[in-house]
Amino acid sequence: MRKIDLNNFQVARSETARDINRRIVLNLIRGHQPISRADLARHSGLQRSTVSIIAEQLIEERWVTEGANGHTLRGRRPRFLHLNKGRIGIIGINIRPGTTTVALADLDANFVAQESLLTAPNAEQFIGELAPRLCNLIKMHPEITCEGIGISLPGRVDLASQRLVFAPNLGWSDFDLKTAIELATGLPVELENAANSCALAEIWFGKQTFAVRNLVAVTVSEGIGVGLILNHQLLRGSNGMAGEFGHTVIVPDGLECRCGNRGCWELYASSAAAVRYYVQSSSPLRSGRKGVRPAGTGPTFDDLLRLTEQGDPKAKEAIRQMADYLGRGIAVLVSGLAPDVIVVIGEITRAWNHVGSVIDEAVKRHSFTRAGTRVVPADPSSQPRLRGTIALVLQKHFGAPSVA
Ligand SMILES: [Zn+2]
Repeated sequence: MRKIDLNNFQVARSETARDINRRIVLNLIRGHQPISRADLARHSGLQRSTVSIIAEQLIEERWVTEGANGHTLRGRRPRFLHLNKGRIGIIGINIRPGTTTVALADLDANFVAQESLLTAPNAEQFIGELAPRLCNLIKMHPEITCEGIGISLPGRVDLASQRLVFAPNLGWSDFDLKTAIELATGLPVELENAANSCALAEIWFGKQTFAVRNLVAVTVSEGIGVGLILNHQLLRGSNGMAGEFGHTVIVPDGLECRCGNRGCWELYASSAAAVRYYVQSSSPLRSGRKGVRPAGTGPTFDDLLRLTEQGDPKAKEAIRQMADYLGRGIAVLVSGLAPDVIVVIGEITRAWNHVGSVIDEAVKRHSFTRAGTRVVPADPSSQPRLRGTIALVLQKHFGAPSVA
């Protein structure tokens, strides 16, 4: 049960009940399609007449469509309802340092169009390059009604103003990305931190995370991000800053981090860390005191994965070291939060046959809890980061409204 927030509550109106029932019906159609009105009434406990009114409304708004007739032994053959998948579209924009991906997806996060552009060094220039591509994408698919745009960012979004306020890896300063893109496209825009949107994508689209109540998403790339879903709800924390486990200290007095701390988890368990381990083992004299080489001069994490597959012992050891630290940090999440599932997202999942057991072993060694937390890799072929952007818009229409 949730305490009623007397500074931010909604009284129950008749529209509240209608909205809740509509969302329940929409979700039942999504989960059981194709489904008849009679079965919807049975699953929801709503009156047949109420289900019919909601169904007509959803059909009129093009969220739902009627398909083939069903079969019954006698009487009128029911007409099945299903989501109007090909008609409703969501645009997703995954902004990363270096490259941004833009895609158009259906309601199941299947991508019907996708393209990439270089991420500009500042937000104004980025909007100038992105806006015409978005307008073109919409124009190229006149058969699809776009319901909105979801954007995931390697940074933090201020909850009140919806402005991008902290994106150290991008190097962009405070900017109102939302209004700029809404003005350019005429579509509503949802912004979210990348790890949070990956966590949402797992509960909306994940095959192995369906119906999970407590889920943690750990995105592993240049840094480490953590998205927390507790009791089916995204945990935002004060100022929307919850989830910065990447900057919790795992090695006391360790390496110096951009955040001003020392020994942060992401300095030891990110892709960049594995590259550093490899470089240090290959040429210890060149690694320097902080062990950090200038960007673009050494092997990439992709190179390391390839070398690991080829059996290169130094690459294998670097990846193992990274996985061990990843497991140590995950052990903290297991002990502290006891989620049902922890999903790992990022290039590292391509080497799960090498790292899965190392992570499991470290989690077992460093967590004392009896929680039955499963640690699983996200399927890289589902493009989890891009899929996260689609979840941002989908949850607006399918998620539970907050009442009271
Ligand atoms: Zn840090």
